Amino acid sequence: MKKALFIIDVQNDFTEGGALGVEGGAAVAAGISRLLAEHPDAYDLVIASRDWHDPDSDNGGHFALAGSSPDFVNTWPLHCVAGTAGAEYHDDLSADSIDFHVRKGQGRPAYSIYEGTTEEGDTVHQLLDDHAVTEIDVAGLATDYCVRASALDAIEHGRKVRVLTDLVAGVDAASSEAALAELAHAGAELISSQQVEAHGPGAGGDRADDGRADDTLA
Ligand SMILES: [Zn+2]
Repeated sequence: MKKALFIIDVQNDFTEGGALGVEGGAAVAAGISRLLAEHPDAYDLVIASRDWHDPDSDNGGHFALAGSSPDFVNTWPLHCVAGTAGAEYHDDLSADSIDFHVRKGQGRPAYSIYEGTTEEGDTVHQLLDDHAVTEIDVAGLATDYCVRASALDAIEHGRKVRVLTDLVAGVDAASSEAALAELAHAGAELISSQQVEAHGPGAGGDRADDGRADDTLA
């Protein structure tokens, strides 16, 4: 059983001070880094997504048109334009721990990490299959949109999914709560990142085949 961590859209524009900053976003960035530092062997694969929109385009109606107000459901203020500071990972997210970087939303709305590809053109589905990943923990931003869509896709693709509820933050409290309830109903397990440690030794049980010592099991 291989495990992956999805880090969804922990970008400057989705954290405090960003174009579409959610409250608690910076704390999510720091919390994910802490989790990975404390449990470097918890995951066989760490995959991070970034919303990565085209400049000079409404990206398929995703950006509110000039002069109209975003509805914060289907249309949004300009955010995460490719190559801008807003599209970069938040500084508190330790990018060193990320094995694969996925970009999504070029010219269109894309909420799920499954809609993106790596720079080499690999889909997330391919990456997970190539690495025989069956279990996925999900953290990041925002609970009620991209975390929700990514976790639902992972469940639909037959993976065992856990959402790290203390390492997500949402646009709206009510819709975030509804999203977590929907995910639980769909089969996701809702856990705290504190519970990841309890699973750590078990997750390391089949790591010998990748050449790493198993002495962390002691
Ligand atoms: Zn977007």
